[in-house]
Amino acid sequence: MSLLEAVFARGDRRLCAVLYSAWQKGCTFDAWDDSFDFSKWTAAFKDCGIDPDFYTARKRAFDEVLPWDHLDYGISKKFLIKENELAHKESTSPHCREKCSACGANALNGGKCDAINKA
Ligand code: SF4
Repeated sequence: MSLLEAVFARGDRRLCAVLYSAWQKGCTFDAWDDSFDFSKWTAAFKDCGIDPDFYTARKRAFDEVLPWDHLDYGISKKFLIKENELAHKESTSPHCREKCSACGANALNGGKCDAINKA
């Protein structure tokens, strides 16, 4: 189940065919343990010629185009890259109530950030 969650969290439109194939094989109430059959999912991936490892088990370059890059949710990719680099150094940005790290979230609220206002 965790593998499927990882695949679909990072997946792109090519996974539509996998979803449809899995559904055709009887995957419907897969959140219930007694209904979940991983072999049907692996068969669906195989039938569609898609390797789940492509989504879950490879290092991604920062300049790779991601399926959600066209969405504007305020936070810049540059900020997320910086956060990733900090995480690999086992470090973090300061808490928003202590210091704004300019993530970009305030861009969606007319320049105001609720996190700052609660400081
Ligand atoms: S205070 Fe707001 S704008 Fe600054 S880093 Fe936090 S969430 Fe982003």
